[in-house]
Amino acid sequence: MRLAMPHMGNIYIPFRSLFERLGIDYVIPPPNTQRTLSLAVRYSPEGLCIPFKLLLGNMIEAAELGIDTFLTVGGCGICRLGYYAKIQEQILCDLGYNVEVVSVGVSENKLAGLLKKIKRLSQDAPWIKIIRAFRFGLAKLYALDKIEQVVQKVRPVELLKGTSNQLFSRASEAINRADDYATLKKLEKDTISELNEVTRNNEVEPLIVGITGEFYVVLEPFSNLDVESELGKLGVEVRRTTFVSNWIKYSWFLNPLGLNEKARIHQAALPYLKRDIGGDGWESVGEKVLHAGEYDGLVHLAPFTCMPEIVAQNIMPATREKIPVLTIICDEQLAKSGMLTRLEAFVDLLQCRRRAGSGNGHKGKV
Ligand code: SF4
Repeated sequence: MRLAMPHMGNIYIPFRSLFERLGIDYVIPPPNTQRTLSLAVRYSPEGLCIPFKLLLGNMIEAAELGIDTFLTVGGCGICRLGYYAKIQEQILCDLGYNVEVVSVGVSENKLAGLLKKIKRLSQDAPWIKIIRAFRFGLAKLYALDKIEQVVQKVRPVELLKGTSNQLFSRASEAINRADDYATLKKLEKDTISELNEVTRNNEVEPLIVGITGEFYVVLEPFSNLDVESELGKLGVEVRRTTFVSNWIKYSWFLNPLGLNEKARIHQAALPYLKRDIGGDGWESVGEKVLHAGEYDGLVHLAPFTCMPEIVAQNIMPATREKIPVLTIICDEQLAKSGMLTRLEAFVDLLQCRRRAGSGNGHKGKV
């Protein structure tokens, strides 16, 4: 078996470690580029969302490298995601590639479902071996997410723009190569100290902007034109509401104390939306309500034609919790210059609100 997975931020790093420890021939597809997007758009039905298209682009580029199995997300929720694996498999077949697309129902089967799929892909490796490999992959995931959260705080105040991004990409490569817990711990500690020593402008109090929306476009920078870095350059500290490590942490399997963040978010959305509408629409509304007192504004990332996020987009302006929301529709037509103009206008608005005392007035110091 030759296996690949889609790109979604740095997720390939923990999974590479996991699969290699289980002796699975794991291929990392080429990073998302204009070529990936062109292939994706060319072979996808036009009205489907950008996650479908970019996942297909990754599949085609991985198939060119000779894979025979592709592990992806699926599910039988309300959105179209549940159909995607079969449609993509059929498109690959029409293109002459014999690839089995294996999907994991992340919402309904959670971590247990993922582990069962891994057992199958590893030709029935013993559970103890799977758990050990998984734990090490998880340690990499936690290290990456912890460092990235510090990067999000340093970006808006660093004097030399791009320094924290450089440190993060260097750390990501080193974490990818790390082969034991001690190296991993040291890398995490050293990178966080380096980030804390970056020369910064201590005069500014950065605006705080939450990033919410559909899981894939929130996590894959190529699909949102790296909106977090762009906001950082404009002096904004972002608080992303979704990290893969959170999804794993709040999965019932690792959550014996019943700490259910998702339930808290759903509860917050209840006055405006009474039930799951598929994808992450319910969460987008809940995030706005829950964090309105902590953020100056919210950037809502919604794939074009995504029904759950269209519903959320229409509810958000009507909530009692009044913080400005900028919805960015992500698809192949999204252009950097257009997005930057809108971000600049949004940041101007938030600064005016803060000056006028109607913002949340955070002490945004790092
Ligand atoms: S939630 Fe929206 S963007 Fe995500 S797979 Fe479903 S329809 Fe596509």
